[in-house]
Amino acid sequence: MNRCQGKSGNTFTSRIWKGRDKLILDSYNRAFSYLRLSLLPVCNFRCVYCLPNGNPKEALHQSHLSRPEIRRLVSALAELGIRKVRLTGGEPTLRPDLVEVAKDISGISGVEKIALTTNGYRLAEQAHELKRNGISAINVSVDSLVQEKFAVITGQDRLPEILKGIRAAQDAGISQIKINVVVLKGLNEHEIGDFLLWSERAPIDVRFIELMPTKDNGEFFAKRHLSLGFLETLLPHRGWNRMEREETAGPADVWDKPGALGKIGLIRPYSTNFCNSCNRLRVTSQGDLQLCLFGKGNLPLRPLLQNDAQREELKSFVLCALGQKNFSHSLHEGDYGSTRNLAAMGG
Ligand code: SAM
Ligand code: SF4
Repeated sequence: MNRCQGKSGNTFTSRIWKGRDKLILDSYNRAFSYLRLSLLPVCNFRCVYCLPNGNPKEALHQSHLSRPEIRRLVSALAELGIRKVRLTGGEPTLRPDLVEVAKDISGISGVEKIALTTNGYRLAEQAHELKRNGISAINVSVDSLVQEKFAVITGQDRLPEILKGIRAAQDAGISQIKINVVVLKGLNEHEIGDFLLWSERAPIDVRFIELMPTKDNGEFFAKRHLSLGFLETLLPHRGWNRMEREETAGPADVWDKPGALGKIGLIRPYSTNFCNSCNRLRVTSQGDLQLCLFGKGNLPLRPLLQNDAQREELKSFVLCALGQKNFSHSLHEGDYGSTRNLAAMGG
């Protein structure tokens, strides 16, 4: 039986705001319009900061949400005001029914946008089909533009085919393509200039992501973490300007440059904007709601995804859970939460 107890006994403090658009607000008045849904916890890459030793045994044996469960989840959340769904993982393209999942979601009333985050490994063959089935935005992780270094960071010598996949996504007419770059001290920090040039010359947004600590990457984090604060000086020096934040913007600080075809985003978990602007719900591939990237404990939704008649109960549970969301993570106090790696919860 699912139970959600509010912070003060049974009362919960999240609510639905029924203005022009319906919105779920938490007790700090943050609006949640965005769902990050992990489709499966396993991956075929071994990124040094995420799964350096490959998939943990338990991930290989976990069952993931079925298509009907996903449909029920997204339909209920769309009724609460979720407008954008990002499919992630692990590696979402390893799921044989990815295209069908996208198609199911694209038919749900209220969902305005479906995005995908991928390591790009099947993009060259799948881009057109993904676009036809409702995916309009793709983030591809590319941590290096140097083939050997890419292989060292990801455990896969596949840079040329990943770049081919990105071109295929452009050809397919996917207009929003973002490149995720986790900046690593001594590994790829010297490539920042090359990524800036790429974004200037191609309609591609590059997002520099600061390395985040997880339960499993403590030693690696200590050695390779680089605060991205220095980019706030470097970017203006190179002609980039910080754009004004829209009220509904997520945690990235976005920069543009006159004449540049793409934009630059900075994702810095230690910066104040990161939590202030939190606008996303995360659901793992087993159907656990996670209120924070660095939180402790999951809230299982799967028991409430077994038939359509459970929709109202599911919505109440999510609202109650959101009422308990803390204002901020505790990274500054050295508390990384209970997530072993970001593949487990979808990044
Ligand atoms: N496999 C897909 C991919 O790599 O794009 C999707 C899942 S992956 C967990 C989502 C994003 O999280 C990727 O851009 C990845 O680089 C990022 N990521 C994973 N672990 C991270 C960490 N410890 N710190 C910062 N970003 C991380
Ligand atoms: Fe796989 Fe993505 Fe993690 Fe790399 S970051 S190991 S591609 S889940």
